[in-house]
Amino acid sequence: MHQQLELLIMLHDVDLLLKESQDAKTSSQLKKIGFKMGKPTKKIEAARKKLLEELDKDIVERYRRLMKRYDRAVAPVLDGICYGCYQVMPIALATDKDRNKKICLCPNCGRFLYWIDK
Ligand SMILES: [Zn+2]
Repeated sequence: MHQQLELLIMLHDVDLLLKESQDAKTSSQLKKIGFKMGKPTKKIEAARKKLLEELDKDIVERYRRLMKRYDRAVAPVLDGICYGCYQVMPIALATDKDRNKKICLCPNCGRFLYWIDK
């Protein structure tokens, strides 16, 4: 997988984790099923900062804009469908064997894509 794409997926996951930890509904649900919901640690914040430093500036900029517009900035593609906007990918993109080796954007919603159907 493209190194920047891997970093981007990690950053996205960390951001969703931080978002969840600030969400009252999620934390009360987790408490109900017996999980202790801690405050995001300084370690996570530091890891996030490091990811941001390793990512290209233009990718980070686009990521920030997408996170403002949508809940998720990165979406998986399965069976040629973007799971951000549920539109079918153009055939040229869907059949590209190297699609996970580069940064792909959904032509419809503009989210970063990673492909889980190999
Ligand atoms: Zn899309």
